Amino acid sequence: MPELPEVETLRRGLEQSIPGRHITDVLIANAKSLKGQSGSVFRDRTVGSRVVRVDRRGKYLLIPLASPATPDTPSAFLCVHLKMRGQLLLKDGPAPVDRYHCVTLVLDDGRELRFHDMWTWGEMRALTEPEMAGVGGLARMGAEPLDPSWGGRELATSLAGRKGPIKPLLLDQSVVAGVGNIYADESLFRAGIHPRRAAPTLSAAEVERLAESIRAVLGEAVGGGGTTSEEYVDLHGAAGRYTPRVYDRGGAPCHACGAALERIRLGGRGTVFCPVCQLASAL
Ligand SMILES: [Zn+2]
Repeated sequence: MPELPEVETLRRGLEQSIPGRHITDVLIANAKSLKGQSGSVFRDRTVGSRVVRVDRRGKYLLIPLASPATPDTPSAFLCVHLKMRGQLLLKDGPAPVDRYHCVTLVLDDGRELRFHDMWTWGEMRALTEPEMAGVGGLARMGAEPLDPSWGGRELATSLAGRKGPIKPLLLDQSVVAGVGNIYADESLFRAGIHPRRAAPTLSAAEVERLAESIRAVLGEAVGGGGTTSEEYVDLHGAAGRYTPRVYDRGGAPCHACGAALERIRLGGRGTVFCPVCQLASAL
């Protein structure tokens, strides 16, 4: 958690509200979120800068900032990854903080963009362009599945030469950007493909169906403002409205056929699937 749909929901909310605003101050309550960057460097690269726009790459939010000295070229990028329990909240003004508050950016209209993180696995840093190129997770990031040009052919290319079961491969950000445990389970269910299927045994038609399912599931979840989970809220603290069909429903009846959904561990991650709809015959 949060995965592509949740981060995209945050991106869209921020894109509507913060470009053009200047950052007037930063408050650092927990420097763990800076992941080794010093507070003074973070401050120097953010305070006085203007938010240019709000981008997303996989599960990263990337927010270019322009300093007064170089108004037309980003001088730094606010790089945010929420990992398991990070949250971004946009407050209308100063408001009480809780003990999970890590970093606040104060905007010139008085609003505050807050980074909260219960587990402090997430990150918020201000990186230069060369530093961003050195972030392995970004450098190795695969294609964006909601990009109009992405489909079965692109997925097949990413999977070429990859061995092992398909489910853990879908979690590999170099195969497809932004898919995590929820949407891997949901996509495989929608495509009718067993999570243990060895990737090289998938036919071209199955890869095509899987790519279509990934796009459909992610699109529905973005439309629903992200998934319903205690681990995710939007900028204003509201839960998502997308309800997974199989994820975290082990033992419950399949919505399509009524069979009990099964839960296994695969690649170290809990995996839920329907033993009837996702036939194991080709394993
Ligand atoms: Zn079923």
